[in-house]
Amino acid sequence: MISVSIQIASYLFASILFILSLGGLSSQESAKRGVWYGIAGMIIAILSTVLGPNISGHIYIVIAIAIASVIGILVARKVEMTSMPQLVAILHSFVGLAAVLVGFGSYLDPHTHQLTGAAHSIHLVEIFIGVFIGAITFTGSIIAWGKLEGRIRSKPLLYPGRHMVNILLVIVCIILGAVFAMATGTGGMVYLIIMTAIASFIGVMLVMAIGGADMPVVVSMLNSYSGWAAAAAGFMLGNDLLIVTGALVGSSGAILSIIMCEAMNRSFFSVIFGGFGNTPTGTTKEITGEATAIQHDEVTELLQNAKSVVIVPGYGMAVAKAQFPVYDMVDTLRKAGKEVRFGIHPVAGRLPGHMNVLLAEANVPYDIVLEMEEINDDLPETDVVLVIGANDIVNPGAEDDPASPIYGMPVIQVWNAKDVIVMKRSMATGYAGVQNPLFFKDNTHMLYGDAKASVDKINGYLKA
Ligand code: NDP
Repeated sequence: MISVSIQIASYLFASILFILSLGGLSSQESAKRGVWYGIAGMIIAILSTVLGPNISGHIYIVIAIAIASVIGILVARKVEMTSMPQLVAILHSFVGLAAVLVGFGSYLDPHTHQLTGAAHSIHLVEIFIGVFIGAITFTGSIIAWGKLEGRIRSKPLLYPGRHMVNILLVIVCIILGAVFAMATGTGGMVYLIIMTAIASFIGVMLVMAIGGADMPVVVSMLNSYSGWAAAAAGFMLGNDLLIVTGALVGSSGAILSIIMCEAMNRSFFSVIFGGFGNTPTGTTKEITGEATAIQHDEVTELLQNAKSVVIVPGYGMAVAKAQFPVYDMVDTLRKAGKEVRFGIHPVAGRLPGHMNVLLAEANVPYDIVLEMEEINDDLPETDVVLVIGANDIVNPGAEDDPASPIYGMPVIQVWNAKDVIVMKRSMATGYAGVQNPLFFKDNTHMLYGDAKASVDKINGYLKA
């Protein structure tokens, strides 16, 4: 068992490791180191908490940790890269649920009611706010999981007066909070339970109102909420490390949400309040022209004749696990003296940084991986663009169709290149569920089939 002072020192050390971890995760080169800092910080945090003063029943804690670790390892090993966002969303829901349970437990704890005066009132406020944020995070994350998993339709559920209903519900929760704080003993339990039910409903409605294309912001926003829920749990338990860690997650998630909103040209508040002022207007522009198919040997020829090639990967590349043959193809083309670069959209795939992770996995050099703003200006001078399993992020409707649900979102303007090859299996829509006029443009050629199989075939032709 360790003393209070050793515990405080360990908490401080773990906090520093968490900060270093976040710093490391900010770039691909240092990301692995960042993960190790995080793991080390977490081991120190768990050990110094479990071995700390006033902790009993170690055997139960060890059994719980062992069971949870086995489940965690099995899930992490089994999960496909394409299902990571769902896993992240469901893990956020656990943090929310934990905050709710800690709040209930803390309220029922006799020590809470031995407190007097301001200390008692402050603790009750901590419990109420912690449970409120936790419940919103819990149900909001479950809905986000459902939408990402495709179990709940990604179309936003918008009904008239929904903002008014949400505001009224929050006011009811504030009134319940006042009554809760005035109750004696555990008499406030009923108000806490009613508020939990209302907050759970708000969580559902907030995320249901957000459309498919705005989901990246929801994922990072729920990440932020889960941090604040953990910080609130830290206040309830009087655990400084949990407060620091929660605040780190909460604030970094909020910063990420703002970055994602800027990338998508969305107002942060419009997204967090469930699609404020975000309703598409008018009827969708009619698509003219015909989609033309192309074969692998013709694509190879276009590539062989090109001087500059840009590859725009999307979710389909992740599904097909095509990053390895894609890099093989890039390598062959670069060795043949062609300029080949990647254009990465900030919300490509299903997770912030999704494409960067896949390309890093395939050892693609960082200096040929460019961001959307960097690549867009060069596209008019590009001979061939290969769109590999991407759809929404290359949809011109986002620029010229005010009726489109993704209108206003900056996209990679691939249609400005001389030739565009779109590799996908069918004419199906992307995550936002909108048809893509790009497929019908004169300079666009559709190469149907699984992205990996297509790239493998092109590699075969290129090498022959
Ligand atoms: P999209 O979901 O728009 O399109 C992916 C396309 O890939 C589909 O149209 C599909 O067409 C194709 N595809 C699927 N499997 C394969 C395969 N095996 N081989 C070839 N093609 C395949 O993806 P984008 O990356 O373009 O856009 C991301 C979307 O996801 C945006 O709307 C974004 O807002 C949203 N989002 C992003 C998050 C993030 O943080 N990055 C989080 C949540 C949502 P077909 O079926 O015809 O093959």
